[in-house]
Amino acid sequence: MKYAVVILFCGLLAACRPPPPQRTFLVMGTFFSVQLPRHRADYMEPVKVLSANKLYELEQQLTIFRDDSDISRLNQTAGTEPVELPPPILRLLTAARRHAELSAGAFDPTIGPLMQAWRFRGGLGSGGIPTEQELQAAAEAVDYRNLMVDERAAFLTRPGMAVDLGGIAKGYGVDEVCRLLASHGVADVLVNLGGNIRVLGESAPGKPWRVAVRHPFDPQRTLGWLALQPGEAMATSGNYEQFVKLDGERYSHIIDPRNGWPVAGMAGVTVLGPAATDADALSTSLFVLGVEEGAAMLARHFPGYAALFVPDRRPLEVHLTANLAERFVVIDDPAIKVRVIGRAP
Ligand code: ADP
Ligand code: MG
Repeated sequence: MKYAVVILFCGLLAACRPPPPQRTFLVMGTFFSVQLPRHRADYMEPVKVLSANKLYELEQQLTIFRDDSDISRLNQTAGTEPVELPPPILRLLTAARRHAELSAGAFDPTIGPLMQAWRFRGGLGSGGIPTEQELQAAAEAVDYRNLMVDERAAFLTRPGMAVDLGGIAKGYGVDEVCRLLASHGVADVLVNLGGNIRVLGESAPGKPWRVAVRHPFDPQRTLGWLALQPGEAMATSGNYEQFVKLDGERYSHIIDPRNGWPVAGMAGVTVLGPAATDADALSTSLFVLGVEEGAAMLARHFPGYAALFVPDRRPLEVHLTANLAERFVVIDDPAIKVRVIGRAP
C-alpha cells in the first residue's frame, strides 16, 4: 500500500515538473535549439547568447546569400585569383575537401552550380527541370579537385565554379558551439541545428541524453530512439523537408555530383559519431552512395561512425551498421523491416 502511494506521488510530481529548459531561434536558414538539464536552468540565458553570437558570426562568413561573405568572395574570384580567408574557414574547407576525396566525389563542396541549375538557389521551384545543356554546363563546373586550400588562402581554379557548404556547415556550427560552451564550463547540454545534434555530458545526473529519429514518411511520428554518449554527435539528411517540385515531381536537395541529378531512392540517412562536422558531411555522402557503398566507405574511412539508412520505398526498411544494431531502438511496428548491414537476415 505504502508503495502505491509513493508511486502515485512521484507520478504527480512528474506531471507538475516544468518542461526541460530549452530555447529555439532561427539561424543559418534553419532552427537552432539548445536544451539544458533541469537543474541547470539558470545557465539558459548565457548559453543562449553565446550560441547565438557564434552562429550569427558563422552565418555571416559562410552564407552564399550575401555578396560579402567569405564564401561569396571565394566564389566571385573563381578562375581569377586565390582569396585570403580566416584560418577556421580554411580548416572547414579542408575538412569538406577531405570528405570529397574519401567519398570519391559523392560529397562535393563545389556543388554550387548544380544547386543553381536545379533551382535550389534563387527562384526555388520555378522554371521546370533544367535542360540537358544547363545540366552539362553546371556539372562541368563541379569538381572538388579544382578547389585549392592552403594555410592562408583558397582558390577555385575554374571560372563558373561555386562552393556551397550546405552539406557540412551546420555540423561545423554545432561543433563550434559545443567547443565554445565547454570552454565556458558548460558540462551538460544538447544542441540541435537543423537536425545536426551534439551533446555534452548528460540530461540529468546518471542519465544520458536520449534523442529520437523521425519517421521519414510521417514527420509526426518517431522511427526510433537512441541514447547519446557524452560528446557524441548525430546528423540526419532527409528528402522529406528540403526538396523542390518541378513539373509536378519532387526532387531531393541532395545531388549526385557524378551524374548531376538529385538523388532518388533514399528517404533518410542518420549518422552518429564523435564530431558533428563529420557526421553532417557523412549524412550527405552516404545519402548519395546508398546503403551498401555507403556502409563500406564508413567502415573503411570512418570506423568511429555508425549509420542508419531508410530507402525511399515501402514497406519501410531500416538498415543499420553493425555498431548501431544494439543501440538503436526501433518503434514497435511489425510493418518495419530492420536489417543489420553485413549480417545474415
Ligand atoms: P540538410 O541541409 O537538410 O541538413 P544535408 O546535410 O544533407 O541536409 O545537406 C544538404 C545540402 O548540402 C544541400 O542543400 C546543398 O547545400 C548541399 N549538397 C547537396 N548535394 C551535395 C553533395 N553531393 N555534396 C556536398 N554537398 C551537397
Ligand atoms: Mg549533411
